[in-house]
Amino acid sequence: MNATAGQHPSAQTLAMLERLVAFATVSRNSNLGLIEEVRDYLTGHGVSSRLTYDAKGGKANLFATLGEPSNPGIVLSGHTDVVPVDGQDWATDPFVTTLDGDRIFGRGTADMKGFIAVALAMTPELLARPGDTPIQLALSYDEEVGCLGVRELLRDIAVTGVKPLGCIIGEPTGMEVVIGHKGALAFECYVHGRECHSSLVPQGVNAIEYAARLIGRVREIAERLAVEEQRNFGFDIPHSTLQTGTISGGIAVNVVPRSCEFQFDIRHLPGTRWSGLFEEIQAYARDELLPAMRRIAPESRITFRQIIDIPVLEADADAPFTHYVQDIAASRGAHYVAFGTEGGLFQQAGIPALICGPGSITQAHKPNEFVLLDQLARCETFMRNLANGPA
Ligand SMILES: [Zn+2]
Repeated sequence: MNATAGQHPSAQTLAMLERLVAFATVSRNSNLGLIEEVRDYLTGHGVSSRLTYDAKGGKANLFATLGEPSNPGIVLSGHTDVVPVDGQDWATDPFVTTLDGDRIFGRGTADMKGFIAVALAMTPELLARPGDTPIQLALSYDEEVGCLGVRELLRDIAVTGVKPLGCIIGEPTGMEVVIGHKGALAFECYVHGRECHSSLVPQGVNAIEYAARLIGRVREIAERLAVEEQRNFGFDIPHSTLQTGTISGGIAVNVVPRSCEFQFDIRHLPGTRWSGLFEEIQAYARDELLPAMRRIAPESRITFRQIIDIPVLEADADAPFTHYVQDIAASRGAHYVAFGTEGGLFQQAGIPALICGPGSITQAHKPNEFVLLDQLARCETFMRNLANGPA
């Protein structure tokens, strides 16, 4: 990424970014204000939108086709939610875009309202695209909390009966073309034992100690993969990882704890069967820990609940769609990134997906998030190449 020899994006893009950032669409908030503004903007260009809502009706996805909806299109996908700013030390108001030199600061400028702003600002050009393949906008809610909203959007696309040709996820990649990311799974494990006074330890079942043994097994699997798993050097961390991220349990030092809860995640390479790793952990709980616990307390139990499921993305590096996107991005690379995206879910739905968007993931989720003007300008060039039609 070049921080000095910068081009400038259009006034339309900057104005659109300002409007989008002004909606504080932190995942816990409603995104309806933003979605309705985008819907009205598109209506003004003669484009109708399909909205799909969450169970409470407080959040929505938007899907719109710039062109003939009965033709399979190319999807530009972006999530409308942003991560919180609570407790972060911002130099400016995070929900007001602030231009400083070659940068625009604001929550979501990189992740990923910059991409959405460029796509919307260039709607007139995308509408004029020659050929039969329309551009389609897919804006989702609740990506940052586990890619939740896009699942409803994908069900709605299936209802239309027209499967898109491919999807470009505009997460920040410095406008490089990314063809893959790891899968991310997270689980909550609840260990239930029997409490008693700590002077009578053998009469109780210490839930924290059994949880610790399970956590140790998670760690052992992680260490084994770090040594034995076949490497994919496209990733910074070229193997799958597991780790425990939270734990709670016990009420006092002199009480054998009855319950303990922890959460762990698995981030696995494309091609690694994560379910086998999870089964190994479950089998250890079922076959080795539980029998010992139940000899003392028959009510003992260990339960697992999956809390995050972001499937792996692994695009075909030689597919025509990949080459097309590399052409319009003027990027011959085929990179991998560490973070998860909605791309794996599009791929699961049978829609080829790639990631390419303005900004850097290293600026995302932090205070003073920014995007370089040059990155927005490069994204405009990308959209212009897309608008010019088939290669
Ligand atoms: Zn994002």
